[in-house]
Amino acid sequence: MTIAETEAQPQSTPPAWRLLLGYVRPHRWALFAGGLLGLVTGATGLLLPLVARALIDDLGHDRPITWALLGMSALVVANAAVGALGSYVLRRTAESVVLGARRALSSYLLRLRISAADRTEPGDLMARITSDTTLLREVTTDSLVGLATGGLTLVATVVMMGLVDVVLLGVTLAVILVAGTVLGVIVPRINRASRQAQDAVGAMGASLERVLGALRTVKASGAEHREEERVHAAAEESWRQSVRAAKWSAAAGNTAGLAMQLAFITVLAVGGARVATGAIDVGTLVAFLLYVFYLMSPIQQVVGALTQYQTGAAALARIQEAMRLPAEPAALPAPLPSPGARPAALAFENVRFRYADDLPYVHHGVTFAVPAQGMTAFVGPSGAGKTTVFSLIERFYEPESGTITLDGRDVAGWELSRLRSSIGYVEQDAPVLSGSLRDNLLLGDPEADDAAVLDVIKTTRLDGLVERLPQGLDTLVGHRGTKLSGGERQRVAIARALLRRPRLLLLDEATSQLDAVNEAALRDTVADVARSTTVLVVAHRLSTVTMADRIVVMDAGRVRAVGTHRELVAADPLYAELAATQFLAASG
Ligand code: ADP
Ligand code: MG
Repeated sequence: MTIAETEAQPQSTPPAWRLLLGYVRPHRWALFAGGLLGLVTGATGLLLPLVARALIDDLGHDRPITWALLGMSALVVANAAVGALGSYVLRRTAESVVLGARRALSSYLLRLRISAADRTEPGDLMARITSDTTLLREVTTDSLVGLATGGLTLVATVVMMGLVDVVLLGVTLAVILVAGTVLGVIVPRINRASRQAQDAVGAMGASLERVLGALRTVKASGAEHREEERVHAAAEESWRQSVRAAKWSAAAGNTAGLAMQLAFITVLAVGGARVATGAIDVGTLVAFLLYVFYLMSPIQQVVGALTQYQTGAAALARIQEAMRLPAEPAALPAPLPSPGARPAALAFENVRFRYADDLPYVHHGVTFAVPAQGMTAFVGPSGAGKTTVFSLIERFYEPESGTITLDGRDVAGWELSRLRSSIGYVEQDAPVLSGSLRDNLLLGDPEADDAAVLDVIKTTRLDGLVERLPQGLDTLVGHRGTKLSGGERQRVAIARALLRRPRLLLLDEATSQLDAVNEAALRDTVADVARSTTVLVVAHRLSTVTMADRIVVMDAGRVRAVGTHRELVAADPLYAELAATQFLAASG
């Protein structure tokens, strides 16, 4: 699904150039300086023929021309230096514009709401950060500077033409107007084709991500060829659209050239007639024709700038689109709870929730209360809505109605970072991030000292693993490092969460990933933690469940029953059945 098809975008869309100017504004003086240096080089270049003429005129006389030659060489060298400086400044500025866009976009994407992230392709978002922002480079230099310098020259030349002969200027402008109309049809097509080309790059990123994210499954399924075709199809679509854009760009450039040649012929004809009637003299006609020639270069420059801008505008539109996805407000990092902070009390009151308007309800009025301290287990068939309870507590999603309170205060009113800094969350299939094992733990609290890290390592029984790893805590894990087993990953996730000294620990147990020894150890740990923290566990194992102070039985988005194991076995048939089958099977 593309971003365009996803979230409603209520804000009105400011034009792409306004967004571009936003990125360019911090660098406007550098851009101005670069453009000016370019103009100076160009103007100095124009002087050279005059110097040459003076030298040639002197050849006949026997005055020494050494100094003049040296002077001219110095001018050429200085000019080259100014030119180089000008291009460097422009290019540097353009790179800064790209950097600004990348920073803005990546910051924004990190704040993306989970509900928005759920419905977008990471590969496509990556393409927007990497590929689309790159296109701003040419837009900044070629389009903005080209438009400014070309435009200035154009205006100056037109003024000069008007001074020479207004009638001929009228003729020239008429031809340009016709060409302008044709360009008005061509140029938007470049935009459309560029947009589709960039969308295809996004689609290629998305299909690559899909394959690389599941390479084992793809290989095991023998699906390499079919997946290859998907990636190639996206790459070819980008090629097709880029070629289309190139076709229209070429047409635009040559339309401009053709217009100027037609203007030359028309001026020759009309001017000739005017010379014949004596309205103007031959010198005026010649001067005007020279100006028509002069006009050629700035017009090409302006048309080039406009066509180049279309590619950039398409990229800007894609960047803008990503930055309209719903995101969380930027917040300062909130401090973590201090050791011995109070455990939190939690309550759900008639919570109704669905993941999207077109999806069925997942919670149909969920109500339960968990006192501060102690352990509460959530059990129920798969799909009952247990993981969703945790997602709502973390405010990854907002309930449609009903309230969730932490210490009696509606979580909707909490500042997000403050809310989350009170919670330790262990995902059902907790990932490790690429980096060292230490980095992975410190994600929970970057300030934690070694003693605290060693402490959680011991509590979660990770010490054996750390000893086995070649570089201990500094061993790389994740994509380019040592792969951890499911059970190890889960213990790392628990250690990471505990390092935050949470007031509320949410543990979404993965189905049977721990071996019996580690399971028993972890059970002791959780029991320990539950003495000073409120612990909520989505439990799949009878051993975990029987340990809980209370058990919340969920089914099909509702709380069926709350009680202890003993009470529930007697009172709730679903629980009795789960206890008899699923738990035993999972722990066996
Ligand atoms: P449990 O953890 O009890 O197995 P979940 O809370 O994960 O159940 O899921 C409850 C229901 O919500 C399931 O039907 C699941 O398909 C659906 N669901 C879960 N996550 C999402 C999501 N991000 N988008 C849409 N539907 C989801
Ligand atoms: Mg679940």
